[in-house]
Amino acid sequence: MDTAETPALFTKKGLYGSLMDWAMREERFKTQLFRFVDVLPTLNSSAQIAKHLKEYLDDGRLNLSPALRTALKAGTGAAWLFGPGVKAQVTGMARQFMLGEDEKEVIAALRRLNERGIAFTVDLLGETVVSEAEADAYAARYLELMTLLARETAKWPPAGKSNESSRGPVPRLNLSIKISALYSQIHPADPETAIEKISARLRPLLRRAAELGAFINFDMESYALKNLTLRLFETIFSEPEFASGPACGLALQAYLRDTEGDLARVIAWARSQRRRITVRLVKGAYWDYETVIAQQKGWAVPVFEFKAETDASFEKLSVALLENEDAVDAAFGTHNVRSIAQALAQAERLGLDRGSFEFQMLYGMADSIKSALLQLDCRVREYCPVGALVPGMAYLVRRLLENTSNEGFLANKFAKGESREELLKNPAELAAVEQQRKAAASSDTGASGSPGVFRNEPPTDFNIESAREKIRAAIRELRGKMGRPHPLIINHRPVSSREWRPSLNPANQNEVIGQAAQATIAEAESALAAARGAQPKWMRVPAEERASLVEKLAALIRRDKAALCAMEILEAGKNWTEADADVVEAIDFCNFYAAEMRVLGKPRRTQPVAGESNFQSWRPRGVGVVIAPWNFPLAILTGMTAAAVVAGNAVLIKPSDQTPVIAARLMDLIMEAGFPPGVANLIMGPGGTVGAHLVAHPQVDFIAFTGSKEVGLKIWETAGRTPAGQMNLKKVVCEMGGKNCVIVDSDADLDEAVAGCMASAFGYQGQKCSALSRLIVLAEGHDKFMERFVAAAASMTIGPAEEPGGTLGPVISREAQQRILAMIEAGKKEAKLAWQGRVPDEPLACYVPPTIFTEVPRDSRLFREEIFGPVLAVTRARDFDEALALANDSEFALTGGCYSRSPVNIERAKAELVCGNLYINRGITGALVGRQPFGGFKMSGGGTKAGGREYLQNFLVPRVITENCLRRGFAPAEGE
Ligand code: NAD
Repeated sequence: MDTAETPALFTKKGLYGSLMDWAMREERFKTQLFRFVDVLPTLNSSAQIAKHLKEYLDDGRLNLSPALRTALKAGTGAAWLFGPGVKAQVTGMARQFMLGEDEKEVIAALRRLNERGIAFTVDLLGETVVSEAEADAYAARYLELMTLLARETAKWPPAGKSNESSRGPVPRLNLSIKISALYSQIHPADPETAIEKISARLRPLLRRAAELGAFINFDMESYALKNLTLRLFETIFSEPEFASGPACGLALQAYLRDTEGDLARVIAWARSQRRRITVRLVKGAYWDYETVIAQQKGWAVPVFEFKAETDASFEKLSVALLENEDAVDAAFGTHNVRSIAQALAQAERLGLDRGSFEFQMLYGMADSIKSALLQLDCRVREYCPVGALVPGMAYLVRRLLENTSNEGFLANKFAKGESREELLKNPAELAAVEQQRKAAASSDTGASGSPGVFRNEPPTDFNIESAREKIRAAIRELRGKMGRPHPLIINHRPVSSREWRPSLNPANQNEVIGQAAQATIAEAESALAAARGAQPKWMRVPAEERASLVEKLAALIRRDKAALCAMEILEAGKNWTEADADVVEAIDFCNFYAAEMRVLGKPRRTQPVAGESNFQSWRPRGVGVVIAPWNFPLAILTGMTAAAVVAGNAVLIKPSDQTPVIAARLMDLIMEAGFPPGVANLIMGPGGTVGAHLVAHPQVDFIAFTGSKEVGLKIWETAGRTPAGQMNLKKVVCEMGGKNCVIVDSDADLDEAVAGCMASAFGYQGQKCSALSRLIVLAEGHDKFMERFVAAAASMTIGPAEEPGGTLGPVISREAQQRILAMIEAGKKEAKLAWQGRVPDEPLACYVPPTIFTEVPRDSRLFREEIFGPVLAVTRARDFDEALALANDSEFALTGGCYSRSPVNIERAKAELVCGNLYINRGITGALVGRQPFGGFKMSGGGTKAGGREYLQNFLVPRVITENCLRRGFAPAEGE
């Protein structure tokens, strides 16, 4: 095979060549360059382009080639770099890898391939589909493209040998489809709805493909969509209408550990259906993404760790494909000469004709390899992305990364000139070496899971069917024991009361989840006496033992995760994912505070000096009241309780009236874990009487409160008084509300911004303290963003939280519903009602239609007050200065965010946005314990950070003990 010719891509000539060459040498330059390339198509003026180019490439820390440095210094003098010139350059760069939008150009390019004897498959580039309108548009574009290509290819001379398999002609018109583009609300917990919706958009495409004799391939995208893609493929092509046509296939990724099993499944399916399908075997293009996402979530990484393992897997899977040639057609998608040679050699061993399989390569890459394969009488197909530049950027950046990667075959061959022996080494042997090296390194450092270090509990992966079934079963089980009474718990003993209050399902006010005993002042007093009785002994239990008990509690919560999720779903109206996140966070709080207490439990030497020992240690405050809200009914309640008790205090737990059943379950688990009686006591009852009484009580040493500003301020004030007989200054941990803001800059990545703002504003019906409620959009880009955002909002699925794929459910109570509806009515007089959703006509549920107001003035209630529901206020800002001023014009300072791709504006947001938790280029909810310690200041709270290193200190007082070690001039040796 002749691969001596260096493809144009890797010559060092021209802008592209020199940029790539430099990118391969300088990692940071590569990052900055690719980020610039990513944002470029959205920049509309020369000034904007010049600004971004300077911000990315002239940041002082960058090692630039002399030519590039000169060009940047020349500023606007270098016309090609600044202004439209650079856009043209990058467009040219992009066009090396993708076809444009112009029909004539697309047809001409495909025709040229045909003339060279190369077949094609066309992929339609698109933005991330965030709304149903966009999914419709995508399907329509596909239909158009198919019709156009069918008409044009019919005029071409007969297809070359690439479209002729050993079994006869194969369809010349070949389309690759991304299923994620056909439905905007894909939810891992609800694959059934996704299949139904995607199938509805696919059927017309398949019908037309069958009429035109076209071939339809399902591309493989992220791992999260893999099972859905396989299931959809099998389901739709089993439907009687499509059981025998159109011709179809799907891609499988060799870098996934699952693929061996998936390939066997696909082959078995094809056999059972007596239908030949094509399997396009690729290596996989999202390695970084899959690795990072799995690590962030604490899930097993689905891809092989080493590139050599993927190459070895590709070879193994190639053999499996060829060995099943009677049932499936193989398409090998690779640019790696060793992978290609191996497939050819295996085919020969099996006595297969070279026409019985094909090679697929990307448009614009590895041209000399394609020519060589044609010379070898092999069939070659090019994967040709078609579309506009903005959606094409993600594709372009993937190609650029591939071309500059240290591990890509092409870069190693052409740019680095590695030897033939090196390039053709057996990947299985290389993988074995890598694995040995890794094993040796981890045994040297003892790195395999060091005990005692806090790790976040992984959320449930609802892609797994058994995980979904657990939730369904838990909901059924809970329904079987609904409406039971839940007494108060004092000294571990149940205490009844005269009054009971029902806890109702927000989706059905006739459904009583449980009855909660209502404490009066008398029970509050007896609980306080129990806590005061237990605390002195409890504080003498070693910190280590207290920590172990709290970890035991975490383990019990984990054991009962599904049952607790079911309670969250029915009692608090959280959807599956949010319910799971709340339970996971409760586990995290326990484990995190236990780990922290182990550290604080050891006295710490202060400044060393001879003849004297000085140690600081921590002492619990005494007895406290934990007053919690309903919106994180388990996590916040558990977090405040765990922190207080692990520190050696005793507590009275006062949950919200809305979610007592979850609180009662937590209390059961506290008892089961083995805490001594009296250390934690459950006091349910009205905040205004029982809660207020305890806050004012002289025998209460501290209050851990999370809730509204209104109640928080009252508590803060009351706790400041010191009636006669009170022995302590009361400590108040006070976490209150927010009016959280996100700025969307004019250069923001809209795919990310729309999805992130949607989730932040409407997740849990806007009832998170961190929820987005003020959205500030830069004037330039405002209309485009709002168009996509409103369409995305209109695509939300609305229904009871127990429906697995639901996005938006009812709000917590009838009272909350009426209050929010009144705010919306009042809001209509203050601002423009841009959009309002429709909720199910279900009088027993507490639905509030999701609502978006635009042109919201800064002095309006909509802009200033916490609404705590699915209501979003949008304000337009002239420029970034005004956006920051608007964002900071609030009495609250809880969460905030900024979507921008300008490094300077990102830095300004970091420095100037006033809030406790700031998120850049991501949603503003979902803080994780230990990773994003959470809490605000100003009227949002006292500056404490739940899930942070300093949090436990709020429940302790520091003491320092000094001992004079010098006796009669004799000092012991240091350290004794
Ligand atoms: P809320 O203030 O109405 O109630 C919170 C708790 O305080 C409940 O247990 C309630 O019974 C009790 N309470 C009420 N009046 C009392 C009084 N006079 N004395 C003592 N206790 C009293 O809040 P909510 O509706 O349950 O929760 C929603 C609020 O919580 C929102 O404002 C939200 O922003 C806030 N929140 C803040 C955070 C945070 O971390 N900053 C987290 C979650 C919720």
